[in-house]
Amino acid sequence: MRILLVEDEAKVSSFIARGLAAERFAVDVSNDGTAGFDLASTYHYDLLILDLMLPGMNGTELLQRIRRTNSTVPVLILTARDAVADKVGNFDAGADDYLTKPFAFAELLARVKALLRRGPVSRSSVVRVEDLELDRLSQQVRRAGKRIDLTSKEYSLLEYLMSNAGRVLSRTMIIEHVWDQSFDGITNIVDVYVRHLRNKVDDAHDRKLIKTVRGMGYTISSGAQP
Ligand code: CA
Repeated sequence: MRILLVEDEAKVSSFIARGLAAERFAVDVSNDGTAGFDLASTYHYDLLILDLMLPGMNGTELLQRIRRTNSTVPVLILTARDAVADKVGNFDAGADDYLTKPFAFAELLARVKALLRRGPVSRSSVVRVEDLELDRLSQQVRRAGKRIDLTSKEYSLLEYLMSNAGRVLSRTMIIEHVWDQSFDGITNIVDVYVRHLRNKVDDAHDRKLIKTVRGMGYTISSGAQP
């Protein structure tokens, strides 16, 4: 496993690099944001550890630039700042985890291992099942390239089905995920909404994607009827 560490504080970076090397990781170190970005875009790393306050280019900008071309590499941010706004901003920019200085090496190592176990993360906002596409960012749905207008509940239901494509979801699971706790409505609400969705998503097409699994619930999947 090869890790890139971008940290300008020599003491901190040598402490981390030595610790990770002792754990048999290959570690490249850069003490400058611009040089770090060059390394990150030249070599294939399994994980990036970024400080925020860096000469050359700050850690947030470095992260944003990397995310434009490499959406999957896990990124751990190291920083002295612990303001909530900074954390949120960096998660928005595509950070996977955050560690505030000072920290114990054991904690850094645990986080590094957890991120590596998870592996490359798909950050695409688009989910697809055959020619049906749902974009979580724009909240738009298209089938065969044609825009489908959904109400917000229909959208939530479709998103839940598509995020679990191929898995049978019971009516109870659907109610728990799509409706909130205040839901005390009619018991066949799921069937009603699935019917609405089918009208919009499947009716105009020969291939039906939303499937009823008798006695169990619903699923959305490509391929044959389960
Ligand atoms: Ca720094």
